[in-house]
Amino acid sequence: MNAPIDPDRFPIPDYIAAIAPYVGGKPISEVAREYGLDENSIVKLASNENPLGMPPAAQRAIDAALREVGRYPDGNGYELKQALSAKYDVPLDWLTLGNGSNDILELAARVFLAPGKSAVFSQFSFIVYPLATQAAGARSIVVPATQVLGHDLAAMHAAIEADTQVVFLANPNNPTGTFLPAAQIENFIASISPRVIVVLDEAYNEYLPSHLRFDSVAWVRRYPNLIISRTFSKAYGLAGMRVGFAIAQPVVTDVLNRIRQPFNVNCLAQAAAVAALADTAFVERSAAINAAGYRQLTTAFDALDLPYIESFGNFVLVRVGDAARINLELLRRGIIVRPVANYGLPEWLRITIGLEHENRAFLDALGAALNA
Ligand SMILES: *Cc1c(COP(=O)(O)O)cnc(C)c1O
Repeated sequence: MNAPIDPDRFPIPDYIAAIAPYVGGKPISEVAREYGLDENSIVKLASNENPLGMPPAAQRAIDAALREVGRYPDGNGYELKQALSAKYDVPLDWLTLGNGSNDILELAARVFLAPGKSAVFSQFSFIVYPLATQAAGARSIVVPATQVLGHDLAAMHAAIEADTQVVFLANPNNPTGTFLPAAQIENFIASISPRVIVVLDEAYNEYLPSHLRFDSVAWVRRYPNLIISRTFSKAYGLAGMRVGFAIAQPVVTDVLNRIRQPFNVNCLAQAAAVAALADTAFVERSAAINAAGYRQLTTAFDALDLPYIESFGNFVLVRVGDAARINLELLRRGIIVRPVANYGLPEWLRITIGLEHENRAFLDALGAALNA
């Protein structure tokens, strides 16, 4: 565990010292070492990664771009921005590239938050919101979730205070998988004071069935205080490359770009993202496999009488009771999932939807773990 920081030796701000470290999914190599397992036998369903890996076109683009790594990347990400501009029909000066969309969330926090300011977000929403808020020295206003662990938009609206500068909203949300339809989100944005920035985090957008899709970019045209955050880490299969982006009007985009690192997205990531963006078939196949995997997992949860939250992402939150114990039983059997006690959900596990055989391996181990 981390030793406490001695404030006399290192005079760091209290709000930095108080940050709880991010707890990610356990790496496969670590579980192999700890449990004496063969790495190849381990199934990782812990970090909402695409079980197909990256698109082959991205692999080829990375191979080609490797020759260029002796040089700095294009700090303006011209090619990737061109491709995004064409896809979303926005000018280049509406786009900010990030080292993952996590970078986008942090840039928003660092621009708009500071000591004496606050950010509003829901209970059980993405853990980076409190982390980024606290790192900026601002106060988190955490709004209780609804009965079904979703965002309570009316309560979030009511929670906005005079010093509130940012509202973070994930749709679909992680770790719950909950989703709010377009009309509710737009009414919410329309009801917010234009001096408050709304960060609409759409990391799982590509998994939505077409009838639930909506044109959030059209809202950016209407609302100067809206930032849309997207990522290549999930459906595009590039989690390890670290690339995401924001769409916002030029005034906001300008300030986000001023504080980002000049070369925050490396050249391999830029090349891979351009290729992945063009491979729409890969994203469609990913979404289809995900939908089938969702049915596979939830059918089994129904049969086991385990409650779960209807999910619109590439993962399912399932209530297993003593989740810490079940998690250990799963790890012993070479299955890595995500405990979410740090989100205040000690009875639940978050399962990333994998390929058919991976889901099967998880379900077999879960059956054994529940009876152990
Ligand atoms: C995974 C995730 C992200 C971003 O991840 P990056 O890899 O940093 O792009 C952002 N928001 C939510 C809600 C996520 O689940």
